[in-house]
Amino acid sequence: MSLSQHQVWFVTGSQHLYGEEALREVAAHSQEVAAALNAAASIPVEVVFKPIATTTESIRTLCQQAEADPACAGLICWMHTFSPAKMWISGLQTLRKPYAHLHTQFGRDIPWSTIDMDYMNLNQSAHGGREFGFIGARLRKERTVVVGHWQDPAVQLRLGTWARAAAAWNEWQGATIVRFGDNMRRVAVTEGDKVEAEMRLGYAVDGYGVGDLVARVNAVSDAAVEKLCAEYDETYVMAPALAAGGARRAALADAARIELGMRDFLGANERFIAFTDTFEDLHGLKQLPGIAVQRLMADGYGFGGEGDWKTAALVRAMKTMAEGLDGGTSFMEDYVYHLDPSGMQVLGAHMLEVCPSIAASKASCEIHPLGIGGKEDPVRLVFNAAPGAALNASMIDLGERFRLLVNTVEAVTPPQDLPNLPVARALWEAHPDLPTAAAAWIHAGGAHHTGYSTAIGLDHLEDFAGMAGIELAVIDQDTRLRQFRNELRWSEAAYRLNL
Ligand code: MN
Repeated sequence: MSLSQHQVWFVTGSQHLYGEEALREVAAHSQEVAAALNAAASIPVEVVFKPIATTTESIRTLCQQAEADPACAGLICWMHTFSPAKMWISGLQTLRKPYAHLHTQFGRDIPWSTIDMDYMNLNQSAHGGREFGFIGARLRKERTVVVGHWQDPAVQLRLGTWARAAAAWNEWQGATIVRFGDNMRRVAVTEGDKVEAEMRLGYAVDGYGVGDLVARVNAVSDAAVEKLCAEYDETYVMAPALAAGGARRAALADAARIELGMRDFLGANERFIAFTDTFEDLHGLKQLPGIAVQRLMADGYGFGGEGDWKTAALVRAMKTMAEGLDGGTSFMEDYVYHLDPSGMQVLGAHMLEVCPSIAASKASCEIHPLGIGGKEDPVRLVFNAAPGAALNASMIDLGERFRLLVNTVEAVTPPQDLPNLPVARALWEAHPDLPTAAAAWIHAGGAHHTGYSTAIGLDHLEDFAGMAGIELAVIDQDTRLRQFRNELRWSEAAYRLNL
């Protein structure tokens, strides 16, 4: 499902006190604003105008309809006039979907020479929005508040960011994370409460026997395998051994067969948005899926290695938020450090599975041995990630709740070639500096697996965490370790008090 298939409903609050003529004007203005937001390139979802909300009953009905409509990802609410907010209580209590409070005004500037009391009565957003804000605070509703004129590109961009998060959240509801095999044995951080995840985050986490996947792989036709190998030839720089006529071409065919089998399995159900596998459970698969997973990620599937379903779901959500934006998003793992005090860096990679959406240039398709798993050599795509602003995000299970941890980083080009490194990799400098960032990450319990993105920013994840009602812990340029540790303690208290 692409972002354009999700809707956000544009809801304008008012009341009957002002008379029918004023309400007609409010409705006309509201339609104009909704149309402008719908047309804005920075808002990738459909913005749907809804009739002016003026009574307790109509507001409640609207919220019930929003809840019932799977295409509706959330509401943008604007108080053009004063809308007494007790009218919003039962509606907002019904509403579990996210809303953004757009605190704007129809006319940007005060019309100094003509302003009179009629104008004042019609343009009351400045205090109407405060009445609406109070009831959100009184009901402890999580929401995003966007302030500024509705034609301002920065305001539209901020609403678009919120809408991207809302669409990703909407997509999680009722989705399935497919697990081929269990979590890697004895690993702690990839575990978690799958019941709590479905209650809190909306997606189911379901295991499937790897044998069922193997059956799909074995059913793939030779003609389809040959066609996909030809696509590889066209798309990547092929290692000579894997090129047509090369000594390892049969291994490339095995990899292509695995990709087609996985596509067949995952494509059979539109709820399957992300998946995991594990090198410890590959019975019947000749190789650990490498290029298959990389290309499925590039097509939008979330992925987590070693059974890491939380990261798989997160990578999918980040990819959905990133749709159409410059940059890429991948499964990632902090791998090796460069601890030179004059410039510390982190080399991120995985055994195989890094998404080519983050590649700086055309990937090369290679085959190398894999030291673990006891299978044949896997085919993989190898590349350097593009430089630029990026972030790493990790979702962890603290027992009774989840925490989303984010570290902003600057991805850089490796200073030298890495001719012997047989996997795709990203190199980055952590904000504010590696000693602070890594210590903060460790204090917060962040995983070694992350979702890595050069496409989305902190705002996307802040909105998303709010929609999920979970803690967001941020490590960025402003982070000081002592304060960060205190934030973790205060958040622990706040979530235990269920504030
Ligand atoms: Mn791993």
